[in-house]
Amino acid sequence: MTQRVTVSGTTPPTIPSSSSASRGDLTGCPWHDAKTKLRAAGLRPTRQRTALGWMLFAKGDRHVTAEMLYEEASQGKVPVALATVYNTLNLFTEVGLLRQVAVDGSKSYFDTNNSEHHHFYIEDQHELMDVPRSDVVLGEAPVLPEGYEIVRVDVVIRLRRKAGQPGS
Ligand SMILES: [Zn+2]
Repeated sequence: MTQRVTVSGTTPPTIPSSSSASRGDLTGCPWHDAKTKLRAAGLRPTRQRTALGWMLFAKGDRHVTAEMLYEEASQGKVPVALATVYNTLNLFTEVGLLRQVAVDGSKSYFDTNNSEHHHFYIEDQHELMDVPRSDVVLGEAPVLPEGYEIVRVDVVIRLRRKAGQPGS
């Protein structure tokens, strides 16, 4: 009996998340849906890709690092090398299935919500949270170098618990 890692605050796996794959193709079966999603992004749904896609996308919006996904795969008895997890996450990012959020030089999160939104990063807990879109007000865009345009604006607001608060 395999014990699954539970992720709090996410959508149950049977409800298809808002994805770029055409809704008509989604059956509610997470394995099938992962394959459909990969195909729609132009990727061949190999066994390992499908397994990792299934873990990533069947649980609603998530922020994972390669290490977290690797750990989860190991516990779920999915034999996959850490290098493969890295490669797959990068590949999924390249085709737009994931968004990469770099919080510092050594740590990158991959976000299954690829729409434009900003993040809180709680430094001492290494936790990334979405900022409700309406809560970030950006100032005027800076003057861009000649010949360039903005791809996207990523805001990471770094947090720490106030001194003297319970739980610190
Ligand atoms: Zn996010």
